[in-house]
Amino acid sequence: MLKAKNTLAALEDHAEFSRRHIGPAAPDTSAMLAALGHSSLDAFISEVVPAHIREAESLSIADGIREHEALAEIRALAEQNKPLKSFIGQGYFGTRTPNVILRNILENPAWYTAYTPYQPEISQGRLEALFNFQTMVSELTGMDLANASMLDEATAAAEAMTLCQRMSKSKSNVFFVDTDCLPQTIEVLRTRAEPLGIELVMGDASEGLGELEVFGALLQYPGTSGAVQDHRALIDAVHGQRGLVVMAADILSLLMLTAPGALGADVAVGSTQRFGVPMGFGGPHAAYMATRQAYKRSLPGRLVGQSIDSNGNSAFRLALQTREQHIRREKATSNICTAQVLLAVMASMYAVYHGPAGLKNIANRVHHLTSVAALGLGKLGVSIANTAWFDTLTLAVDGKAQALHQKAREGGFNIRVVDDSHVGVTLDETSTREDVEAIWSLFAGEEALDFDALESDVAPVLPGELLRGDKPLTQEVFNRYHSETEMLRYLRKLADKDIALDRSMIPLGSCTMKLNATAEMIPVTWPEFANVHPLVPAEQVTGYLQLVESLEAMLCEITGYDAISLQPNAGSQGEYAGLLAIRAYHASRGEEERNICLIPSSAHGTNPASAQMCSMRVVVVKCDDNGNVCLEDLRARAEEHSQRLAAIMVTYPSTHGVFEEGINDIAEIVHTHGGQVYIDGANLNAMVGLCKPGKFGGDVSHLNLHKTFCIPHGGGGPGVGPVAVREHLAEFLPGSIAGGSGAAGRAGVPVSAASVGSASILPITWMYIRMMGREGLRSATELAILNANYIAHRLEGRYPILYRGNNGRVAHECIVDLRPLKESSGISGEDVAKRLVDYGFHAPTMSFPVAGTLMIEPTESESLQELDRFCDAMIQIRAEIAKVEAGEWPLESNPLVNAPHTAEVLVEESWSHAYSRAEAVYPLERLRREKYWPPVGRVDNVYGDKNLICSCPSIEDYMES
Ligand SMILES: *Cc1c(COP(=O)(O)O)cnc(C)c1O
Repeated sequence: MLKAKNTLAALEDHAEFSRRHIGPAAPDTSAMLAALGHSSLDAFISEVVPAHIREAESLSIADGIREHEALAEIRALAEQNKPLKSFIGQGYFGTRTPNVILRNILENPAWYTAYTPYQPEISQGRLEALFNFQTMVSELTGMDLANASMLDEATAAAEAMTLCQRMSKSKSNVFFVDTDCLPQTIEVLRTRAEPLGIELVMGDASEGLGELEVFGALLQYPGTSGAVQDHRALIDAVHGQRGLVVMAADILSLLMLTAPGALGADVAVGSTQRFGVPMGFGGPHAAYMATRQAYKRSLPGRLVGQSIDSNGNSAFRLALQTREQHIRREKATSNICTAQVLLAVMASMYAVYHGPAGLKNIANRVHHLTSVAALGLGKLGVSIANTAWFDTLTLAVDGKAQALHQKAREGGFNIRVVDDSHVGVTLDETSTREDVEAIWSLFAGEEALDFDALESDVAPVLPGELLRGDKPLTQEVFNRYHSETEMLRYLRKLADKDIALDRSMIPLGSCTMKLNATAEMIPVTWPEFANVHPLVPAEQVTGYLQLVESLEAMLCEITGYDAISLQPNAGSQGEYAGLLAIRAYHASRGEEERNICLIPSSAHGTNPASAQMCSMRVVVVKCDDNGNVCLEDLRARAEEHSQRLAAIMVTYPSTHGVFEEGINDIAEIVHTHGGQVYIDGANLNAMVGLCKPGKFGGDVSHLNLHKTFCIPHGGGGPGVGPVAVREHLAEFLPGSIAGGSGAAGRAGVPVSAASVGSASILPITWMYIRMMGREGLRSATELAILNANYIAHRLEGRYPILYRGNNGRVAHECIVDLRPLKESSGISGEDVAKRLVDYGFHAPTMSFPVAGTLMIEPTESESLQELDRFCDAMIQIRAEIAKVEAGEWPLESNPLVNAPHTAEVLVEESWSHAYSRAEAVYPLERLRREKYWPPVGRVDNVYGDKNLICSCPSIEDYMES
């Protein structure tokens, strides 16, 4: 008998999005609370979150709406964008994403929900794709090795500049920049150079260096104007001064033009956007960086290398990690953590899909079409400023630039306004004969030009000495998957090697691997968001601008800050932008000398690395035995550096997974000494709807939209790292790139190549907040905290939980201390992490923030069943360790040290271990029915770093060996 009243609201209740986003259903929540000795979620949360930072009011955010309603709202926003055809160029191009790549990578959770491949055994698929990316880049640039992506071309150029500074033997502090470099690259270089005391000198590369002494130079190839120049003389001149040369090269043009490596450049950077990645109003896209062997240890970003596994088979893993901020901290080569993996995978697969011949056809076609366009323009009496070109023409138009721009827009396309008397047109893969005719029509009177006749008259315009002679991309991978069936299966084969969120929970502390809901992802690939050039007039992107404004308002409300910039492409970039704002603020008050940045010893590696990029001096503050910032030490350091104190960078809740009671004291101490408080917001998932960093002492925070706000990790990027500030810092937030819309009224310097950074993935976060609404957001936080405490509760007794708050509770993550077990058994954290693979799980965060520990963060999205599945695995592993402790299994050979076990080792004739084959691969009954088989055994890191291989061997190398 139905008692409840049949109202629409009651019947639709189950369709609320937050119920799908949050894993545990109401009865499970009660069960978990009961396990923790509570009957009310409210009371439990009050116990965990310190009362003095708790917000009294609930968020002023609209109620959540259902998936189809939110999709309709964002559809209406999308439709306000007017994606005209773009001939703007300037580093962004129309491209066709092959549909097999669109659906099976960009729209496939097996790829987009994966984490950064720190655990190589469960990441062979994405590692292979990145290895292909590195191979593609090394081949096209003619360099020895390339990394696995950079955040954008402009920051890649800036990182290359600092690589030159580290590696050049010149004493100069001058970096030469050719005036024909991309304007946004020049802007970001200025941002990066200033704090480091690097002097940028702009000049015309064709005129040489003259008397100038430099430690390095940046050349654009081809130039922004379209000019294709032979830079060998300048490269020799820089080398003559023991400086190094960076070439920012267009990836498609390199199919036709001599590679930067062959011209003598030391570093090559650029964007791979036009290899099948939509423009997306500026991003995300993968940039690349390649260099010579000699500079491999100075390379920023991640590098995939080939090594061997425990069975002697070849296997991929991240190489030379000692360069990175996790280990090197303020001495790291760069602060990059999250990069652009998903987009790098797409670009590499574009090369796999087309192969060298297909890519060359695309390049030739673009070039041919440009040359026909040029010939026609010549016939129409238009003077072309560049004598050679690949895809771009600069037209001298005698004061008519704006009028032509207007006429073009009326005709449905955008051209580039260089200045009042010059416009640029750039063609791309999507350009057609009709497009060329449309460009002609800007200048033509009545008479129409005959495309066919002109086409047959086209003569080569690329300088003969710059025509590429060698044949890049002969590797098998670029020559094998050219039917769609083959391509589809290759993508599937790689994805199947990996563990992503579509397989099981990824309990990575600090990384917040929560649900990336399908409804959130759907708008990303809508053409109205995807096919928009970042430098179009504001009137064409009103949908985007409203989305940005709405998202900024929501994020300000959630964080308690007054202003926010969505420009930074990752948390690390948000940190950098936040510290720059602090620096500018002090300078505005005549306190330039403030350059000390206090950082607790438990901080994430990006914090000190970012501080270093701002020329701040890092002073480490101790943590006490409970893992809290040691207030005594903080007072002493603040006192000691009072006159020069710039800031403290502190993570909240702490990287130890605890709501420190003393956070207000920390803020007060620093403020008293004139410093600013930077609260690293990576752990915001423990605070949304409960407390606000902008209200309990923070002056500035970055958020990680790819952690708290559902942007998928993509295997190591993309990300968005907005920087939020209080009123007094608002004017120092990153400003727009010239010509870009999106960050009105900000005076600060830009930190990314595009004004709104990775704009095309902002719909994900917008959808999440819109669907969750005020209540949903708070519930998510509460459940994230409950889930973590439930895990801590189930594991305690078996494993020590390292830190807890005053109340005995953890925040949204917990640290399992394996050091005592290492003592008693010899089994290490790494062994446990690898053994989890045999149980079908991705390992928790290893050795951060404390060596020898695992940090577990379940997030709210994991159901009670999944939490139990994970805890069961951990508990069973503890029982296995007990057998080693008891001497039942020898330390040299037990399921832990031999983990993970591949199918291959199982079927070997001999089995000489003290444990059985079944104990190796089916330690829990359920695994007989649901088994993930790792494709490789434990990967040897040391071997791989000693024998560094970062790209596929070419056919010639095979033949030689
Ligand atoms: C993830 C993280 C960062 C860096 O963010 P990215 O987006 O990877 O650059 C900084 N601090 C903490 C505590 C983090 O967990």
